[in-house]
Amino acid sequence: MKPKVTIFWHRRDLRFEDNAGLYRALKAGGPVLPIFIFDRNILDKLPEQHDARVMFIRDNVAALADTYRSMGGDLRAFYGKPLDIWKQLQANYDVQAVYTNRDYEPYAIARDKAVEDLLNERGIPFHHFKDHVIFESDEVQKKAGGPYTVFTPYYRMWRNNLNDRLSNYEGKEISYYLKPYPNEKYAANLWQTDTHQAVPTLSEMGFAPADVPIPGTRVSAQIIKTYDQTRNIPGIEGTSRLSVHFRHGTVSIRQKALRAMSLNETFLKELVWRDFYSNILQEFPRVVDAPFRAEYADIPWRNDESEFKRWCDGTTGVPIVDAGMRQLNESGWMHNRVRMIVASYLTKHLLIDWRWGEGYFADKLLDYELASNNGGWQWAAGCGTDAQPYFRIFNYDSQQKKFDPKYEYVKQWVPEYGTPEYPAEPMVEHKFGRERALEVYKSALAKARS
Ligand SMILES: Cc1cc2nc3c(=O)[nH]c(=O)nc-3n(C[C@H](O)[C@H](O)[C@H](O)COP(=O)(O)OP(=O)(O)OC[C@H]3O[C@@H](n4cnc5c(N)ncnc54)[C@H](O)[C@@H]3O)c2cc1C
Repeated sequence: MKPKVTIFWHRRDLRFEDNAGLYRALKAGGPVLPIFIFDRNILDKLPEQHDARVMFIRDNVAALADTYRSMGGDLRAFYGKPLDIWKQLQANYDVQAVYTNRDYEPYAIARDKAVEDLLNERGIPFHHFKDHVIFESDEVQKKAGGPYTVFTPYYRMWRNNLNDRLSNYEGKEISYYLKPYPNEKYAANLWQTDTHQAVPTLSEMGFAPADVPIPGTRVSAQIIKTYDQTRNIPGIEGTSRLSVHFRHGTVSIRQKALRAMSLNETFLKELVWRDFYSNILQEFPRVVDAPFRAEYADIPWRNDESEFKRWCDGTTGVPIVDAGMRQLNESGWMHNRVRMIVASYLTKHLLIDWRWGEGYFADKLLDYELASNNGGWQWAAGCGTDAQPYFRIFNYDSQQKKFDPKYEYVKQWVPEYGTPEYPAEPMVEHKFGRERALEVYKSALAKARS
């Protein structure tokens, strides 16, 4: 006889504790079998065998399987295409219901719809919940209706929403929206089994380990307390480095937001940027391929491939740009201030299509997230929702003086800086690049508006 189970499908939520969808599955009574699918539709497209993200996911799925085993259950992990795996699951188990947390990327929405249709054919319900963000787009709407497309009023409404509903937690009143889900209370509802199935190894999936250090999930309170003073200085550890964990749900966004509220409002605000861009993607999925502002659709990009290569390699002759790109290439992460500088240099001084930069970041960033990456790139190119106007072009020298005056960050990533091996001149110098960009943007926009 096939075992009767309720399945919980992990995706961007690789944790047992404070997991919204898992909580609902366990509370409904179970027995709950958690699963994970290493999705070939995604993995087959990754350009490199040594992909630190695949390693990160695999390590965390294996750790999660251990957590379930310590509670008498198991996690079943599969390598394949989701629809095939779901057919296999239906063949092997008597599936009562499926629970999961929502993913807002267009590919994920289409995948989930196909899985839901397949399950519904057999009368199996597919329940999905909010877990990845604090508010979904329909929860932060203008009073007159419709989504916000400018951050500051969005942030104000988001902040009001938090206080809308309060709830008691450990003797304190906290926002209902940040209250942790006590999954451990219902751990007995996990499907109990002694047969443990091994999580596929990296080599079974065609990948190999990558030599990239992954930041931890615990951030010192000091970093958060002084975040507003340190967050823009790339040469020091002044930010949380939590992005990879938010991306894969190895930490709970609610838990970190709750902590931020008592430590530093500026840090909380950054978490709101994450919700903001997710909400923009939920409301305007067209931003994936096109500029949010339609009038920016026909900028005549120069798209010089050799210049793009120098930008990617960090050999432009602009020290802070080169340091940023090398930090990205070597560590899979780049400081936010420098992300803005390199993106501005690519889209303005080099006049290269923001989608080229976006794609390069997507290949390299450990914390790559479609919504935030797309939002950040469109912001820098001037074509996004809450964009800086096209005529405000970052001066890389002023940025250097302001945020890395002693060149500490530059020296960390560009060891030959200051020696004859480093280019004497930038590939495209600021004044020339700025004027050219102003001219090109201005006339393209005038044409689009005429
Ligand atoms: C061109 C460009 C591309 C970007 N691509 C990504 C991406 O693919 N994935 C990603 O997570 N972030 C992206 N960001 C946003 C930001 O750079 C990173 O979230 C941040 O640098 C991660 O480091 P941290 O965890 O130490 O951040 P902290 O400064 O400690 O901030 C805490 C958290 O707040 C969120 N956050 C902070 N700033 C932003 C922001 N501007 N937009 C959205 N969320 C934010 C992140 O989840 C971050 O982990 C991009 C920014 C730019 C300008």
